[in-house]
Amino acid sequence: MGTAYDLIIVGAGALGAFHAYFARQRGLKVLLLEKDAQPQEATVRNFGQIIPSGMSEDEWFDYARVSLATYKAIQAEYDISIRENGSLYLASSPAEMQVLEEKQARYQALGYASQVLTAAQCRQRLPAVRADYCAGGLFFEQEVTAEPDLMIHRLLAYLVARWQLDFRPATPVREVTATATDCEVVDNLGRRYSAAQVLVCSGRDFKFLFPEVFAQSDLQLCKLQMMATYPLPQVQLPGSILTGLSIRRYYAFHSCLSFKLLRPEDVDPALREWGIHILFKQALDGSIIIGDTHEYADLAASDSLDFNNRDELNQLMLTEAQRILDLPDWRIQRTWNGYYTQSKSQEIFQYSPDPRIHIITGIGGKGMTTACGFAHHNVSRLYSSEG
Ligand SMILES: Cc1cc2nc3c(=O)[nH]c(=O)nc-3n(C[C@H](O)[C@H](O)[C@H](O)COP(=O)(O)OP(=O)(O)OC[C@H]3O[C@@H](n4cnc5c(N)ncnc54)[C@H](O)[C@@H]3O)c2cc1C
Repeated sequence: MGTAYDLIIVGAGALGAFHAYFARQRGLKVLLLEKDAQPQEATVRNFGQIIPSGMSEDEWFDYARVSLATYKAIQAEYDISIRENGSLYLASSPAEMQVLEEKQARYQALGYASQVLTAAQCRQRLPAVRADYCAGGLFFEQEVTAEPDLMIHRLLAYLVARWQLDFRPATPVREVTATATDCEVVDNLGRRYSAAQVLVCSGRDFKFLFPEVFAQSDLQLCKLQMMATYPLPQVQLPGSILTGLSIRRYYAFHSCLSFKLLRPEDVDPALREWGIHILFKQALDGSIIIGDTHEYADLAASDSLDFNNRDELNQLMLTEAQRILDLPDWRIQRTWNGYYTQSKSQEIFQYSPDPRIHIITGIGGKGMTTACGFAHHNVSRLYSSEG
């Protein structure tokens, strides 16, 4: 008997779905299995900021640029909710502005366009920005946003319609094994599927597939609190808005010589304790998404990051957000939390318990920006030696 599929992918978040996309482009016979009727993990709970500018200047910046080009190319064919509305980093002090100016020069050397804006230019673009917060900004016109509650669902619909992907939602996988000739995948109803190779892109699910591998890993779970205002159609806040605390947090800026001017003690200790930096993004209905916090736990203690949202943390975020923007209505329509996994020592967790089975997770807080480009690279790597 021949093997039914070239590749089975477990998990239809950003990592799994984009691996399926590039594998189908190569003409491989691919089966994508997702446990939920619709994906509902990190890939639908995030901001939808697709920002190569936030990456370190290494291969992850390259993956992010491949992602950017791919999102735009797919959007030109099929509406997956990508908007070309740019990213703006707002500095809150002359020192943060100096970091942005240095970074702009570095991007120029890399051939990645950006524009330093004065405070007045920032306020022209975003009238809601407070004059007493903004010292200027750095703008990336070419960067895009996605609507996280739409993007993955539309991408999966596109993969099925355009690329004839065999996608099976509501199909939890309970076992993945290698046999003498191929790999076998078993779902919760005992149905069996076989393939030459299997990718396990199961996000934060560490208990069902390969728990022994995860128990040995240095993965940790991160919980983030998010909130959204009521729709504010009278406010114009296009694109991704990143702020002074983001400049301090993102590795992209750590390599700037002027980064050492940013003294940690200038930041409220409560914001530092909860890993709070403020990002904004206006959703299609006009509501403004505000976040986020970062709470970490090693996998052994990951259940301690429970389902509760703490009002104390939301208030810390709102207080900082109100220093940055003037909004006509700060009432919060909804709050939620999201979780991502990350490795303490690597940018992504990859482990192959068998040469034909590959676990890929732990892409951290950059998966909307980089999962696509990483998948492009990884599919090429997995299949480059094949005839
Ligand atoms: C609040 C928040 C904000 C963020 N903001 C941004 C942002 O603005 N920009 C950015 O670049 N990144 C952002 N991120 C990070 C980004 O969302 C993640 O890196 C990315 O979504 C991870 O994708 P994934 O495919 O690895 O995981 P997931 O989205 O968790 O997908 C894994 C999938 O596997 C499925 N699965 C698990 N086990 C099984 C099984 N046994 N059988 C079948 N299916 C299974 C799950 O149901 C799930 O659908 C944010 C993350 C969070 C939480």
